[in-house]
Amino acid sequence: MHGLTKEQINFLNEHRVHLKFVFNAKGMSKSKYRPIMKELNKYIAYNVTPCKKSGHTLRTRSGHCCQCNTAHMAFQKRNDSVGVTYIAGSLTGNVIKIGFTKAVEIRSESLNRTNYAGFNDWKVLFALKSKNAGRIETRANSLLNNYAFSLDYEHDGHWQDSHETFHCSYSKAKKFVKQVCSENNYDFESIRESLTEKYEFRILKKDTKWNK
Ligand SMILES: [Zn+2]
Repeated sequence: MHGLTKEQINFLNEHRVHLKFVFNAKGMSKSKYRPIMKELNKYIAYNVTPCKKSGHTLRTRSGHCCQCNTAHMAFQKRNDSVGVTYIAGSLTGNVIKIGFTKAVEIRSESLNRTNYAGFNDWKVLFALKSKNAGRIETRANSLLNNYAFSLDYEHDGHWQDSHETFHCSYSKAKKFVKQVCSENNYDFESIRESLTEKYEFRILKKDTKWNK
């Protein structure tokens, strides 16, 4: 479904790049995909123009072939960057998303503009600022995976759809984010916490067929 080749998946796996950092740039020029990737916190573009040297089709968002020169994979240290971990919800999709951003003020607008995961009524319900925001996001997402997915899925779960959304309640997502902060003693500043009850979606197991 994501359209990556087995060789590309192996390469990304080897460099420990989660699929959520990978962006389908099909039909886009660098000047087009670069700002979008930056905004969506994506690091590797695929379906790009093949590199001249070996015909690879994975590039960093600055347009370098990351397979010809793996030094371009150094962005992975970004896990410690200061930013915002947020929880957003869509009422039409009955889905929740935990994400990382540098600019939470415009995040719901950009999720809606890009029709993220097929929905355009995203609302940021919760946000915290931390120098560990990237880690908090990654860890909270994997707690959510562990909770909602079967063991089979978890085994293969490193490779999810790049639209990482969950059928779960807002309060469950919030509980996981807070749990990650307290278990790791991460310093954070709470910047938004909506008390709405409209986003208390039921927890559903995602169809795992596409993941095979
Ligand atoms: Zn190359």
